Amino acid sequence: MFLEKLRRFMYGRYGSDTLNFALMILGLIVALIASIAGFWPINLLSYALYGYAIFRMLSKNIPARQKEYYSFLKVWTPIQKWFRIKKTAFQQRKQYKYFRCPNCHQNLRAPRGRGKIRVTCQRCRKEFNQKT
Ligand SMILES: [Zn+2]
Repeated sequence: MFLEKLRRFMYGRYGSDTLNFALMILGLIVALIASIAGFWPINLLSYALYGYAIFRMLSKNIPARQKEYYSFLKVWTPIQKWFRIKKTAFQQRKQYKYFRCPNCHQNLRAPRGRGKIRVTCQRCRKEFNQKT
């Protein structure tokens, strides 16, 4: 009964996405900082973040919300990618040495324990020496 009412209420509204989730998390972090710092006006910022997330959830202007979401993804996707690369590098740290091309900064890897090797970058074809 309640779920049915909720579904009818949410019909035609934007609902939730990763940006809303990020806003909520950010709101929690800000609230935590406010309580650690003991300075209550910071809390207003966390309320503003929650408010914005709720506003987006209930909004009927779906194209505008999608536009916000895509702008968010433009910033978020590279950050997410960076963390994924760091995570993989950490998991494979015993098998592979990770390094960057000195010319184009492309992320590269080579099996460990081969001593000094000659590496050719896959992207820019620059050759350089690398200790593994
Ligand atoms: Zn390169």
